[in-house]
Amino acid sequence: MAGNRTFTMIKPDATGAGNSGAITKMIEEAGFRIVAMKKVQLTKELAGKFYEIHKARPFYGELCEYMSSGPIVPMILEKDNAVEDFRKLIGATDPKKAAPGTIRALFAKSIDANAIHGSDSDENAAIEGNFFFSQFERY
Ligand code: UDP
Ligand code: MG
Repeated sequence: MAGNRTFTMIKPDATGAGNSGAITKMIEEAGFRIVAMKKVQLTKELAGKFYEIHKARPFYGELCEYMSSGPIVPMILEKDNAVEDFRKLIGATDPKKAAPGTIRALFAKSIDANAIHGSDSDENAAIEGNFFFSQFERY
């Protein structure tokens, strides 16, 4: 059965453009409950740790540079079928290919500065949520 939590972060292009409020509103209006949320800036090293699974991909260095270039808003979200429904809400990685009305279609600047992250599995949602929020607190 699909889990009911996912993890997201609003990325530096979107926080920098003043879109974190509008994006958070879309997330809540789509039926996701915000379980945990904060605003932080990663070091390049920590961004590298978060995106370790992409280490072999050609864009890894630039991705870590970019993800540490400004503040991000990580959140744990709750809804039935959370991972799949949230990926639908954000749209394709490349905003040019993202369906109309999705968060990336509305707010992303490019395939790298694409406004928002969404976990791709229940397992990664738990790992990514634990990266930013203490496992010893209750959310
Ligand atoms: N990315 C990039 N260039 C690419 C593909 C991905 O800069 O050609 C960045 C982009 O910010 C993306 C992140 O790397 O969101 C992780 O890539 P993934 O394929 O996991 O896409 P996502 O799951 O975020 O849609
Ligand atoms: Mg991904």
